Amino acid sequence: MLKLFLALLFSYAILEANIQLIKKENDDSNTTLLVIAGIHGDEPGGYFAASILATNYTIKSKNLWIVPNLNKASIQRNRRGINGDMNRKFAKIKSKDKDTKTIQEVKEIILSKRVSLVLNLHDGHGFYRKENHSKIFNPNAWGQTCVIDQCKLDPNQPFGNLSDIAIEVKNNLNKHVLEEHHSFNVKNTKTKFDDEAMQLSLTYFAVTNNKPAFAIESSKNLSSLYQKVFYQLLAIEEFMKIMGIEYKKDFILNEQNIKKIIHNYGNLLINSVISLNLNNIKKSLSYFPLQSSSNEFKFTHPLGSVKRVRDKFIIYIGNKKVTTFYPQYFDYEDNCSQSYIYVIDGKKRVFDKTSEIYVTDDFKVVSEKSTRVNIIGFRSKKSESDIVVSYDSMNKRFSIDKNKKTFRVEFYKNKKFCSMQLVHFK
Ligand SMILES: [Zn+2]
Repeated sequence: MLKLFLALLFSYAILEANIQLIKKENDDSNTTLLVIAGIHGDEPGGYFAASILATNYTIKSKNLWIVPNLNKASIQRNRRGINGDMNRKFAKIKSKDKDTKTIQEVKEIILSKRVSLVLNLHDGHGFYRKENHSKIFNPNAWGQTCVIDQCKLDPNQPFGNLSDIAIEVKNNLNKHVLEEHHSFNVKNTKTKFDDEAMQLSLTYFAVTNNKPAFAIESSKNLSSLYQKVFYQLLAIEEFMKIMGIEYKKDFILNEQNIKKIIHNYGNLLINSVISLNLNNIKKSLSYFPLQSSSNEFKFTHPLGSVKRVRDKFIIYIGNKKVTTFYPQYFDYEDNCSQSYIYVIDGKKRVFDKTSEIYVTDDFKVVSEKSTRVNIIGFRSKKSESDIVVSYDSMNKRFSIDKNKKTFRVEFYKNKKFCSMQLVHFK
């Protein structure tokens, strides 16, 4: 029960804490893998992998913490860093920097007593090779590497043998490469002596605080997002094996299945009274009943986010723009029915206030005292209850889905908004 509760924590309100931290915990042991993704907004292999880790993996022993979308605003824009490179702000940061709060919060998470190993997920340029073969295969490339800042931490630090661990991960990954040139290497940046830029990074902050840390870099030059996610997940699984974290996943790890999971955007619950399936939703929805402020958006997808731009609300899954709401602002009525009575294809039935309702031929909303019904796309002069509505009588322009099959039924009381149901014609 505890695990189930923790697994459901990745819905969040738009105005709450800066960083989303998903905890999958089993016991009080301090063996906890912390996976951080999305420090660079244009590296989706990392953050979609972290998201799948959150939704499709069960942790059977020890603990896994996931920060799936550290740099959310940059992910929405699909840019490395809209306020500069977030991975160069860990040694010092200017007080006015817009990333200050995020950096502070993630440092606290990294330093948390429970965390015993940190992974920072990236998609890097090219394919790292020790010798220079071409613009893509060379020593300056970052792709397909397990990156360490130095070989070792303090001798007594669990998982402090960074070099040995990285080599083991690399060797095991290379047993599963999809194509020969995808092979992984270990890249030691020797940060302390050789790399001033990396001295400002997240992993170097961790190792200087005696926390074992690695970066996993899939390659930006892989042919699909699914391949990048495939390698990220393989690498994370190798780290879990080394740490003795037992896990189960509900799919077989291959490109096809990753594609299926990534294309499932899940559900969005708005203010507890509107529930939308984000798959197949239209690019924009007009006259959408929202409050002028304090709207609460809860996604089942860990990478779900909202950006308000003046009078529109843009809905994202990671760097993918899913839909835009053009709102009509309403006050919300508290004292509404929790369910409504319908006649569906001639049969009377009761549905919860946010249900999606499946109809073959026609439906009728049974009128309720002092409640106004508005069926969006059905034109009537008065309240639209007690009228039989068929698919032919609907203006398809007002459907919420691309297939033109699903329509909004909205309930109002005292000129305030109550809730929305959806009617789906089969
Ligand atoms: Zn990166």
